Amino acid sequence: MEIKIQKAKTLKEKPDFNNLGFGKYFTDHMFLMDYSAEQGWHDARIVPFGNISVHPASTVFHYGAEIFEGLKAYKTADGYQMFRPYENAKRFNNSAERLCLPQVSEDDFVQAIVQLINLDYSWIPDMEGASLYIRPFMYGNDETLGVHAVHNATFAVILSPVGSYYAEGLNPVKITIESDDVRAVRGGTGYAKCGGNYAASMRAGQRAAEKGFSQVLWLDGVERKYIEEVGAMNVMFKIGGEIVTPKLTGSVLPGITRKSCIEILKDWGYTVNERLLSVDELISSTENGKLEEAWGTGTAAVVSPIGHLCYKDKDHIVSGNKIGELTQRLYDELTGIQWGRKPDTRGWCYKVKI
Ligand SMILES: *Cc1c(COP(=O)(O)O)cnc(C)c1O
Repeated sequence: MEIKIQKAKTLKEKPDFNNLGFGKYFTDHMFLMDYSAEQGWHDARIVPFGNISVHPASTVFHYGAEIFEGLKAYKTADGYQMFRPYENAKRFNNSAERLCLPQVSEDDFVQAIVQLINLDYSWIPDMEGASLYIRPFMYGNDETLGVHAVHNATFAVILSPVGSYYAEGLNPVKITIESDDVRAVRGGTGYAKCGGNYAASMRAGQRAAEKGFSQVLWLDGVERKYIEEVGAMNVMFKIGGEIVTPKLTGSVLPGITRKSCIEILKDWGYTVNERLLSVDELISSTENGKLEEAWGTGTAAVVSPIGHLCYKDKDHIVSGNKIGELTQRLYDELTGIQWGRKPDTRGWCYKVKI
C-alpha cells in the first residue's frame, strides 16, 4: 500500500495533556482510503484532520453500514508501542464480513496506523496512565437509497490523545442489570464492533445514568437470563475461586482485553471457565457470599472493578465496594505490559522506533 502524504500547513496548538479526558481532542492528520467494487482499495492518503464530505444518500446514514475498532499507542523510551494491533485487524475484518463491507489486509490496517502515528508522534502523551487512542473505522458510501451490500466504502483512522481513565484512582463502578432492552441477539451483529449495536444500547445506558449507574450489564436477547457483557466492556467474575466469563455465543463482543486476561489468569494457575452464567446464579452468589470479585475488561479502562450490582431495584455490594485483590493484580499486569514497565513475555506489544 502506497500512502500519499499531505501535511497540514499549520499545526494545531496542543491541549493541556494533564486534562485530556476521553476522545475530545484530535491530532493534526487522519488516514483515508477508498474502496469501490471495480477498483478495490485505492487512494490511500494521510491528509490534514478535518471534516469529511459524504453524499447525503450514503449507505452509512440510512442503513448503518459502519464498523470501528479501538486500540492504544503508549509512549516508550525510543518510540511507541501498541497492544496486539493484529488482533484488532482480524476483528475489524470479522465485523466487515458481517456487515458486507470490504476486507482490509491486516498489514495495511496496521501500516495505516503506524504511518499516521509516525507523523503525529508528538501527540502521544507521556504522563502516567495517558496514551494515544486509535480509532480506525469504515463506512459504506454508495450514493443510492437502494438496499444492497456495499459497493463503495471508505476506511479511515483518527487519533485522540486520552488521559488516564482513572483520574481519581481505580474506583469500583456501579452497574445495573438491564431486564428490558437488549443490545444484541444471537444471529445478529453482537460480535461485530459496529455503530448499530451502540445505537441499540443508548436508551438503557441513558436510563442507567439518570439513576446514577455508570454502565448497564446486558442479558442475552432470547431468554434475558444469561449475563453477556457490560456497556463497552466484557465482564468477569470470581465465584468461589473459579473465574467465570460469559462464553462467546455470537451476541458478545470478543474483546482483546478479555482474551488477554484469560491467558494471564490461566498462566497464574486459575481455573477460567467461559460458560453460560445466569443472572440467578450471579445474584445468589452475591447473597451466599460466593462472589468474591467482579470486573469489566476493555481497551479504554483496561480493567474496571465492579462494586455495586443492581438487579430489579435491589442493590448488591461486591467485594465490600473495594477493588478486589485479583482485579488489582490483573490491572497492574496488563498496564505494566502495555506501558512497557513489565516484560512482554507473550510478544503482545508491537514496537515502533522513532
Ligand atoms: C470494544 C468492545 C469491548 C472490549 O473489547 P476490547 O478489545 O477489549 O477493547 C467489549 N464490548 C463491546 C460492546 C465493545 O464494543
